[in-house]
Amino acid sequence: MRIAMVSEHASPLAALGGIDAGGQNVHVAALAAALVDRGHDVSVFTRRDSTDLPDDVTAPDGYRVVHVPAGPPAPIAKDDLLPFMGDFAAGLSEHWTADRPDVVHAHFWMSGLATQLAAGPLAIPTVVTFRALGVVKKRHQGTRDTSPLSRTKIERLIARSADHVIATCSDEVTELVRMGIPRRRISVVPCGVDLEQFQPAAIASADPTRRGRLVAVGRLVPRKGFDLAIAALASVPDTELIIAGGERSDVSDDAEAKRLRQIAVAHGVADRVRLVGQVSHESMPDLLRSADVVLCTPTYEPFGLVPLEAMACGIPVVATAVGGFLDTVIDGVTGVLVHRRTPAAVADAVRRLLADEGRRTGYGMSAADRAHARYSWEQIAVDTERVLRSLLPEPVVAQHAEMAEDGTRDGRLDLV
Ligand code: UDP
Repeated sequence: MRIAMVSEHASPLAALGGIDAGGQNVHVAALAAALVDRGHDVSVFTRRDSTDLPDDVTAPDGYRVVHVPAGPPAPIAKDDLLPFMGDFAAGLSEHWTADRPDVVHAHFWMSGLATQLAAGPLAIPTVVTFRALGVVKKRHQGTRDTSPLSRTKIERLIARSADHVIATCSDEVTELVRMGIPRRRISVVPCGVDLEQFQPAAIASADPTRRGRLVAVGRLVPRKGFDLAIAALASVPDTELIIAGGERSDVSDDAEAKRLRQIAVAHGVADRVRLVGQVSHESMPDLLRSADVVLCTPTYEPFGLVPLEAMACGIPVVATAVGGFLDTVIDGVTGVLVHRRTPAAVADAVRRLLADEGRRTGYGMSAADRAHARYSWEQIAVDTERVLRSLLPEPVVAQHAEMAEDGTRDGRLDLV
């Protein structure tokens, strides 16, 4: 298939950890690469946010990245991108008129909007993965939500007009059905994890003199709940908390980092909390493997790659029972789901796990097994491909089947 992926703010080539660069960038990059491995021709369309970027570049993993001009060629917060989606859609339309994809997979609601505007008149089938939903964000953030006011309305329209919606977890399905989207037009395909990169340590060399280590990872934004992790640490003695994420490796000037440091001081744990800033994705497995427990305490989480990455590294996770974690973390088997968002409840779960090495090891092994059994990008690409293929008109499907029988690579198909 010729697959176009649209990811307006999250380039698969961006560095991770900044305000708007995290899971979506990883998801798009890894899914594009895995679909290329399955013989598809994949182009990712993202907004040009720098004058230095080429119009078009082939990533080392074989997918094409097209930088579409829309608004100033400079970083812009994702919540401020809506006014530029008309231009973005016009750019997509120009590309797709000249070079038509078989199907478009949009990531995030604004990509969904631009995709519907561009693909609709060209009658190209569309799939949208919202990742985060405006209704959920509004529910949790209330007046602190910086999304455009029209987001929830537009999201509902996109979900109704796209040919199919891919939800990343069952919690999202519930939300979509509540929004009036028929269940038959929704499939669940989770995010995956790179199992070559994220692997358990070869030999665990336990150092009984070392103090316990908790690791928390994510963009430095309040909803990630690092404040809760810090507050919980006050009741977990002899243990340090490493927090990774931020625009740079030095986050001394970062407003959220300052707030978190103040909270650490207020709880008397400033000497046991380290904000290490942005950690390269290549170094992430080492950081996660250095933990006794990976702590994920967001207020809500559409999917959440970090627990999956920790699981693949064989590290048990303590997570708040929200969003995607309800699917990925099996409570009492691969980690602990905390149902009450209180420092006492989080601290209790962490203390018990730190005190029981046997349970930690068992959870870690089950976690790695689960990551392998369900969440390889190869498997996620197969599941995504099944959804995309189901939307192709009959002649295209037939031609694909013929090509597959020939043993030839799936390639360009012109509809007649
Ligand atoms: N990440 C990273 N370096 C950092 C912070 C985060 O590589 O300093 C990566 C992390 O390993 C994960 C992604 O960014 O792959 C965050 O994804 P998640 O789904 O947990 O959160 P989101 O950013 O989507 O809210």
